[in-house]
Amino acid sequence: MTEQEWGSVQYVSEQFGRFYSTGAQRVDAPTEIKQREFGFLSFGGRTMFRHIGFGDTEELRGYVRNYAPAHSYFSAAYYEKPRAPMAEKGWRGADLIFDIDADHFDLPCQKIHDTWTCKTCGKAGKGHPPERCPGCGKASYSEENWLCGSCLDAAKYEAQKLLDILDQDFGFQQSELSVNFSGNRGYHVHVRSPLAKGLDQLARREVVDYVLGIGIEAEYQGLTPRQVGGGSMLGRGGWRGRTIKALYDFIGRSTPEEIKALKLGRNATRDLIEKRDEILSYLMNQHPSRIVRYIDKKSMGKLLAVAVDEQASAIDTVVTTDLRRLIRLPNTLHGKTGWLTQNVPIEDLPDYDPLNMAVAFKEGTEKVYIKRAPEISLQGEVYGPFEEEARELPLAVAMFLLCRKSARVVR
Ligand SMILES: [Zn+2]
Ligand SMILES: [Zn+2]
Repeated sequence: MTEQEWGSVQYVSEQFGRFYSTGAQRVDAPTEIKQREFGFLSFGGRTMFRHIGFGDTEELRGYVRNYAPAHSYFSAAYYEKPRAPMAEKGWRGADLIFDIDADHFDLPCQKIHDTWTCKTCGKAGKGHPPERCPGCGKASYSEENWLCGSCLDAAKYEAQKLLDILDQDFGFQQSELSVNFSGNRGYHVHVRSPLAKGLDQLARREVVDYVLGIGIEAEYQGLTPRQVGGGSMLGRGGWRGRTIKALYDFIGRSTPEEIKALKLGRNATRDLIEKRDEILSYLMNQHPSRIVRYIDKKSMGKLLAVAVDEQASAIDTVVTTDLRRLIRLPNTLHGKTGWLTQNVPIEDLPDYDPLNMAVAFKEGTEKVYIKRAPEISLQGEVYGPFEEEARELPLAVAMFLLCRKSARVVR
């Protein structure tokens, strides 16, 4: 780290300290705080301070105020002795948690704001890096991933689908669910329920598969070649209803070009385009087995995979199945953005805009030298793009660039 870079880290650290001098009072303690493990990352340091425990909320807030950490976490798990080494903690269950991160999505906006550079030959491009570098065939890249309103909206949409599945299919109470903006590119959904607490890793894996819609097979969703009586399954609970809704939505809104792009069988493609209304009407009013004669088995599999994927929620598998995961503490700052990790009441989620609401450093300006940054939209204003330039910017924007190490303080 150069002296200038270190100076900027110091600056950010001081700003966090200033924020927490009053902001620490708003840090939310998790339920059953005495059974939780906490972990913190300091500025500059790469070690996680973990196995920390607190007796009450005030103790936790005091710690955050004193140390003003770059990142603050708590355990999804409940332990008998949260301060003990991992093997002696005494695991007593864990909240069911889901992580949704726009980083894992494939979005058009990423082609605008993300870049990759091959570490071997220096070839560069936009969006996600290719599997193999077109310049040299290697696969080692440095990536610069940014975020914008579109990726944050996409993440929110996945969170909303997840909440719907947890509510409708699993039957969790609204009061057992909470949603946090992660402070960066996504959302965390927590389920605090006696029904979820004791689930082991395998059971959580089953939950993940269900949410992701893995293993949905046509035949078991009523799409059988043998015609069955009975009505539409459109409004049914669970994946039965979701699958038919997925097909209905997908077929209903796809253009002929989009249908052709799926590379289905010739007859299936023709019927999906020419007899679309007939097929939709069957899905709406009759048993789904009625549509099997238009779409051969292989085509149905392909069609279903795409349609189901749209209804499923794009959660990160690893986070949910990790029984000892540390997760961000609400109302603390995210050291890579300078934004708040924030609890969002479920009823407020549709209108929630992190680019306004999660901004922590709302007042003042700072002069920074920016290496490079794409256009940034924050608090209703647009800034940049920047390239090798010094600018006086609102503190929220300057802090965002400093936290991302894309800028340094000019003194
Ligand atoms: Zn290369
Ligand atoms: Zn984006």
